Amino acid sequence: MLRTHRTSELGRVREGRRVKVAGWVSSVRDQGSITFLMLRDGWGEVQVTAKKGEVPDELLERLHAIPPHSSVVIVGTVRIDQRAPGGVEVIPSSVQLVSRAKKQPPFSVYGGNLPALDRRLDIRAVDLRRVKAGAIFRVRHATLRALRDFFTSRGLTEVQTPKIIATATEGGAELFPVLYFDREAFLAQSPQLYKEQLTMAFDGVFEIGPIFRAEPSRTLRHLSEAISVDVEMAFADYRDVMRLLEDMVVRVTKRLTSEIPEEFAALEHSPEVPSKPIQRFTYEQCLSMLREAGVEKDFGEDLETDDLRELGRMIGGYYFITDWPTKLKPFYIKPKARRPEVSESFDLMHGDLELSSGGSRIHRRSVLTRRLKEKGLKPRDFEYHLRVFDYGMPPHAGFGLGLDRFVMVLTGQDNIREVVAYPRDMRRLTP
Ligand code: ATP
Ligand code: MG
Repeated sequence: MLRTHRTSELGRVREGRRVKVAGWVSSVRDQGSITFLMLRDGWGEVQVTAKKGEVPDELLERLHAIPPHSSVVIVGTVRIDQRAPGGVEVIPSSVQLVSRAKKQPPFSVYGGNLPALDRRLDIRAVDLRRVKAGAIFRVRHATLRALRDFFTSRGLTEVQTPKIIATATEGGAELFPVLYFDREAFLAQSPQLYKEQLTMAFDGVFEIGPIFRAEPSRTLRHLSEAISVDVEMAFADYRDVMRLLEDMVVRVTKRLTSEIPEEFAALEHSPEVPSKPIQRFTYEQCLSMLREAGVEKDFGEDLETDDLRELGRMIGGYYFITDWPTKLKPFYIKPKARRPEVSESFDLMHGDLELSSGGSRIHRRSVLTRRLKEKGLKPRDFEYHLRVFDYGMPPHAGFGLGLDRFVMVLTGQDNIREVVAYPRDMRRLTP
């Protein structure tokens, strides 16, 4: 290794210890007889302090000449100094410039006003050196870990399902076609049908993987490629999985706030920890609330962006919208036995942002076939799926949660692109 210590470990090292640290330079400040170089690595930063007389003149000159963003390896001794950020500094004895920055970014990475996101995305890896970006991605990492632990503690098995598929899961034009040898195939818009099938074998499953949506939307909450957290459980209905989702949001948020408070401090954002139960409103209750606010909607009409904004304003925070009209939901969602125009379904919202959709699924082949036809889809195209229903498909329920949107809420970001390293949207296919 080119280093003996990470910057975050230096606080625990005894004074006078010789260390080798490696990272990139965020600034070099010359204050006459003393030069401060700030060195960042993946774990934090340390001040390298070079005083005239204490270090050779030649070394001072070399430090001055290092452009910010360059990668360096520095050997030196640790000194405790409360004036230094983190309470320690390194007194250099040698500096190796392992990769000189030949250019400076067209915006200030370490403080200052940020330009439009597009300019940052063009050199995204450099942009991600920002302190806040680092915090966002460490929250994202911790969220993934907490999700996996949570589902594992509930007995679910993690699975992966194919992302190259033969037919649309939900139909519609939201699919990216790909050339699969000599045939047309598609990128999966959801693992829906596969995760349902897997409940036959594993009871409860979860998957964290990409979904692809060819929706030409230019919003702050849609990407062409997103990460979905999918859950499907046998012998469960939509109320059971709503409770699981609710527990998940509460447990994950609590764990993050106690495990990584420093990341939220860097983001100047404390995520809302909801208390249980998360409020539940039926779709029809939402229509009444909208009516009181002067918005007339008939049963069966979808809740549009403006309606969700209004509801978000009235309710705030996390809430469920349940019991959606069957016709607004995909073919595999189960209609209610007593009132088939209403379905056993829910969306989890935060303000006006949809985080998750879920529901009880149809587990009878004949019903599913009928629903496919009603939706204008061809049962023949789904034969590979319908076939397994003949072998004792259990009743089951599940949900899909947008990981990126959940991280937006946790980190207080308005634009989904801020929480994705290399976002894909209608206009952007690089980097
Ligand atoms: P929306 O109405 O916001 O477009 P949707 O109802 O089409 O979402 P679902 O098919 O219900 O989305 O997918 C489940 C979850 O996956 C959504 O609640 C959302 O969190 C996430 N998701 C869906 N599409 C996208 C996308 N294009 N970009 C980011 N996340 C998405
Ligand atoms: Mg949805």
